[in-house]
Amino acid sequence: MDYDDYGSDAVELAVDLANADRDADGWASTFCAVHHEWFTEGTVLELSRRETTAAGSTGDLVRAVALAGSQAEVVERLNALLALASPKPYATDHDGALHLHYAAPEAGALEQLTTTVAMGLSQVVVQHGWQRLGVCAAEGCGNVYLDTSRNGSRRYCSNTCSSRSTVAAYRARQKG
Ligand SMILES: [Zn+2]
Ligand SMILES: [Zn+2]
Repeated sequence: MDYDDYGSDAVELAVDLANADRDADGWASTFCAVHHEWFTEGTVLELSRRETTAAGSTGDLVRAVALAGSQAEVVERLNALLALASPKPYATDHDGALHLHYAAPEAGALEQLTTTVAMGLSQVVVQHGWQRLGVCAAEGCGNVYLDTSRNGSRRYCSNTCSSRSTVAAYRARQKG
């Protein structure tokens, strides 16, 4: 998905964390390794058991924001997420493009992860509206997604879920 229009790629990290598969023991370390481009080079991306639980709670808060049914709920849940962050933003062009990083470069992996997720998500929700963040309507999916469509009409996390649901609805109609 293309998040460029949102002015914050960091929201992608937030959505991915909310959707991360937590079945394996070291899932958070794996998650950080897969998303290493968000961490300062040289950061130890191995998370302890306690840090892994904390990363899971951060993912839960992202999902809670996506599930919120009112602006009051969004404010409360977003602030709970921001309370975990330790922002120290700085501009960088380490990958060629000028952009912001939100956590202190010398911070540990968990602090970088939590801060980037909280700041990236908050920025997008505040600038583009909390209705843009949703949970996939396809049966058995439950992925958090960011709606980047022009008119904000998306209900599914992916084209796969969208067509799967279209086919299911069609079959249901045929039966009925
Ligand atoms: Zn960067
Ligand atoms: Zn889905």
